Amino acid sequence: MRILLVEDDELLISGLREALGQAGYELDHLGAAEPALDALAHRMHDLAIIDVGLPRMDGLELVRRLRASGNKVPVLVLTARDGLDDRVRGLNDGADDYLIKPFLVPELLARIQALIRRSQSAVSSRMTAGPLTLDTATREAQLAGQALPLTAREWDLLEMMALAAPSVVAKRRLADSISRWDKEVTDNAVEIYVSRLRAKLADAGVSIRTVRGIGYRLDF
Ligand code: CA
Repeated sequence: MRILLVEDDELLISGLREALGQAGYELDHLGAAEPALDALAHRMHDLAIIDVGLPRMDGLELVRRLRASGNKVPVLVLTARDGLDDRVRGLNDGADDYLIKPFLVPELLARIQALIRRSQSAVSSRMTAGPLTLDTATREAQLAGQALPLTAREWDLLEMMALAAPSVVAKRRLADSISRWDKEVTDNAVEIYVSRLRAKLADAGVSIRTVRGIGYRLDF
């Protein structure tokens, strides 16, 4: 996986170079928007991390031009804590997600993984999470190459968790996502579906972890 970082803060650049390298990503870096626009036109990157505060052309203008040119590379925008307007504008202008500076590396890695997984599933309709494969077009699941029969509700919950992984999905969000099936879905019902899913996933190298007081996370 190759990531382009567009950032002019030397301290952040060296920190991210180390952190992303350790996580197994190949990182290219540019300090300004104009060359980044050229580099991204070659479509060699799986993701772009773009700082809003750049010299001359700012990061949001870069995102706007990128989308105007038809480029769909996943974009994570970095913005200052007081840049609320930037965040809203960034998402309106085509950024896929934003992160407020300063941020923790695990949070950055979680966002990156989620964005890359989302873009892969948009292209192929198939998404993998360790030994688990979900085909969002056919709603078929496979575990270690074997068909995994799931009910509609189980499928919805597993898809949400797989899309979000390694981030935690709030129990309330899971309940809302399946409430079109039931009139009202309680948190207790989510627990029942999760325990059925756990039984089906067994010991195959992917598991649903409870994050107490928050929700669930798919580990693989
Ligand atoms: Ca900057």
